[in-house]
Amino acid sequence: MKKRILVTGGAGFLGSHLCEKLLDEGHEVISLDNYFTGNKMNIVHLLDNPFFEAVRHDVTMPFFIEVDEIYNLACPASPVHYQYNPIKTIKTSVSGAINMLGLAKRIKARILQASTSEVYGDPQVHPQTEDYWGHVNPIGTRACYDEGKRCAESLFMNYHIQNKVRIKIMRIFNTYGPRMHPNDGRVVSNFIVQALKNEDITIYGDGSQTRSFCYVDDLIAGMIRFMESGEEFIGPVNIGNPDEFTILELAQKVIGLTGSRSRLVYAPLPEDDPMQRQPNISLAKKELDWEPVIKLEEGLLKTIEYFTRIIS
Ligand code: NAD
Ligand code: UDP
Repeated sequence: MKKRILVTGGAGFLGSHLCEKLLDEGHEVISLDNYFTGNKMNIVHLLDNPFFEAVRHDVTMPFFIEVDEIYNLACPASPVHYQYNPIKTIKTSVSGAINMLGLAKRIKARILQASTSEVYGDPQVHPQTEDYWGHVNPIGTRACYDEGKRCAESLFMNYHIQNKVRIKIMRIFNTYGPRMHPNDGRVVSNFIVQALKNEDITIYGDGSQTRSFCYVDDLIAGMIRFMESGEEFIGPVNIGNPDEFTILELAQKVIGLTGSRSRLVYAPLPEDDPMQRQPNISLAKKELDWEPVIKLEEGLLKTIEYFTRIIS
């Protein structure tokens, strides 16, 4: 059935892939974005499609529209960007969630929240399962993002309980791929751009901290599958790739795949940088029959191809 779907943050990295996929599936899509970290270039190829609309709007302000579903992705996601104006980041997460939940309540739309593995903070449980409450510093430099997202989850749950809003809470783990912002400071984009330019590769700390990287196509498939799943399954659910690597291993892979002459250099570990992160995705497998299929090397090659194009 053709649906009308609102994607907040639709011009961002994940949002643009989501808009594209939903249009491919025959839906009508409205992207709502203030272009803080998003870019019109990410969606320019969709603008000719009569079933796509791009609206410039800030989610901290109310927005009125009639849609069947809302994917709430608006929020800067990289530490550099979300720490640039931490108060605005909190407003985007919290007021943005209130505005979108209020909209969903009024028009009886289903609404999915792009939450994050950051709700687990620097986790003391490994791998992370959805019933773990996390280990978050509420006053640290990452708190604007972590606590904003935690508050948004709480808002989603309370709108569901109090107002019967049909919600889905998805905890996204590190995702990478084409259309990542080349300067947003995230590790995959940083390392690839540095390698392609034969510049020093900046390892923060000793590189022994771990992350588990999910390729964007797998993530978007999981996101849509979750939105379309049964009413009663509201999450939170982890969506990510459980293959875990140290940051040093990632750097070595990127150098190998690009044939770069870059050297590794070490810089201090940022405050509250989580030491390990790996999703337990048993719940997603059971409830959604979803698991990622794209291995790190394959995804890195596609991402390297993209960055080669945009920085040459
Ligand atoms: P991104 O920065 O590329 O996209 C975010 C988009 O939201 C951008 O287009 C930006 O302009 C827009 N935006 C920011 N503030 C806004 C506001 N106040 N009003 C309207 N639009 C606003 O980041 P992304 O990687 O695509 O992340 C998308 C969502 O997924 C975010 O909510 C993020 O927290 C979540 N997430 C992403 C990852 C990841 O690894 N990429 C991991 C966990 C969670
Ligand atoms: N990182 C790094 N060098 C960089 C960028 C990031 O060593 O140039 C490290 C960072 O300290 C963290 C990991 O890579 O331990 C992932 O960082 P990213 O900002 O991509 O995501 P997050 O910390 O939010 O998972």
